[in-house]
Amino acid sequence: MIRRVIRRFAQLQKGSDGQEYSYTQVPMDSNHPHYTPHQDYYWATKDELAPHPLEIRTDVDWESTLNHWHRKFWQADILKMVWTMGMHSFETEVTINYPAEKGPLSPLFRGEHSLRRYPTGEERCIACKLCEATCPPKAIKIEAEPRPDGARKTTRYDIDMTKCIYCGYCAEACPVDAIVLSSNFEFATIAHSDMLFTKTKLIDNGDRWEAQLARNLEWVFKRK
Ligand code: SF4
Ligand code: SF4
Repeated sequence: MIRRVIRRFAQLQKGSDGQEYSYTQVPMDSNHPHYTPHQDYYWATKDELAPHPLEIRTDVDWESTLNHWHRKFWQADILKMVWTMGMHSFETEVTINYPAEKGPLSPLFRGEHSLRRYPTGEERCIACKLCEATCPPKAIKIEAEPRPDGARKTTRYDIDMTKCIYCGYCAEACPVDAIVLSSNFEFATIAHSDMLFTKTKLIDNGDRWEAQLARNLEWVFKRK
């Protein structure tokens, strides 16, 4: 529409006879009443203007136009897909058959929590409550009392794993590396109660994964 308006303003001008004339020259043959050997063309009037090719298309079939571009779009997409598949078919397979196969995990991976013991079997935790204080969502609850030998040990160490955000601050704050985050990430459950870890559960985790936890910590210390 805009193109049509611009074209009209650009091409037409009014003559002295009041007619709108175009700059378009229309050839005359010798049968034309105004034909002279010196002028074999005349200026076309507004009504004699040949329509612009784009203006002829007044009945655009939008459905077929959309279908055309829709087909073009998907053809390009399918070709791209075939090309990508072809290129990747020569690469080494990267998918693994989980859970039969498992990928490598960083020693810094933050998974299920564990409470560690010393090699003598003594609990490492000294109930300083730094982990409880530093835990952002307040997921840790600790109660403690002194033992007959004067050592301060926890009587309760609970972690609500549904609150935990696996930030690792508890492990960072612990001065004796008692609470650590293990490499185990396979502890999903459908029962909320299973995610309320008690001290017994945490100590069991520590006993089960002590070798792995010690290796992870050694790797971390070497890098510090
Ligand atoms: S990992 Fe973070 S959120 Fe989870 S118990 Fe430790 S400090 Fe709290
Ligand atoms: S786990 Fe560590 S930081 Fe938490 S109370 Fe025990 S010794 Fe303190």
